[in-house]
Amino acid sequence: MPCFERNRRAAPPAAHHKPLRANPGTILGKRCFVLDLDGTVYLGDRPIKGAVEFIRRAWGTCDFYFLSNNTSRGPAAYIKKLEGMGIPAEAGQLLSPTLPLVAYLRETGIERAYLVGNRDYGAALAEAMPELRLGPEDAQAVILAYDTELTYEKLRISAHLLQKPETVYLATHPDLVCPDPEGPLPDVGSFTALYEKAVGRLPERIFGKPDPAVLGPLPALYPHETMVIAGDRLSTDKKLADNAGIDFILVLSGEAKEEDLRGEERLPWRTVRDLGELAEDGV
Ligand SMILES: [Mg+2]
Repeated sequence: MPCFERNRRAAPPAAHHKPLRANPGTILGKRCFVLDLDGTVYLGDRPIKGAVEFIRRAWGTCDFYFLSNNTSRGPAAYIKKLEGMGIPAEAGQLLSPTLPLVAYLRETGIERAYLVGNRDYGAALAEAMPELRLGPEDAQAVILAYDTELTYEKLRISAHLLQKPETVYLATHPDLVCPDPEGPLPDVGSFTALYEKAVGRLPERIFGKPDPAVLGPLPALYPHETMVIAGDRLSTDKKLADNAGIDFILVLSGEAKEEDLRGEERLPWRTVRDLGELAEDGV
């Protein structure tokens, strides 16, 4: 029986953000692996073979968390996708901008917001914050997510709301583009450029990587030196690790090339072809 099945955990935690902390082991001195998804674990719908094998082999030894800025889908879609690759991730192992976004909405008393986002993400947000009313009526905030169902109607409503100075303007993450096998596609950072031209505003808060708040309670649960973040993008993944003071593994299986490190103040802890190369270190 493969080790990932032996170590499969029984029931998902009640709350999405409640982290799992089950494995006492370490690999290369690291106990908590926070992995970016696209470009690190898979490329679009194609698993990165070495990375998936490494994760499955190490599943019962270390704790894994999966971190994506992509707010075009909810946690259920990620769980299904990872499960299809033989990685039995649970909701408590998924990190996304939703956690700090909901914390911010609650802290600031925002209960009515207009979401520029997919139906799937609207459902995920409603589940994470049941008291939030999503719609244009009396909206206190506009939340910009990665809306792959964007329509001119949504642009019209949100632009009108953002022309009222009292409307709080929030964005789930800063990425300019989303990787796609046929070439990069406009993501939230490109949408904010559109609103900047149209209504002259930039978001008051941008959640997700590289803001360390996206790590939720993890830095309080693990000693920093036992944590590591792995990803393929310098501007979000590496910057998050640098901002949080956590070691970084650059994987060359996605966006960044090794030469892109020229000019970086802090070099990665490891630079690898893909996560499978860690296995060559005797894992
Ligand atoms: Mg990535």
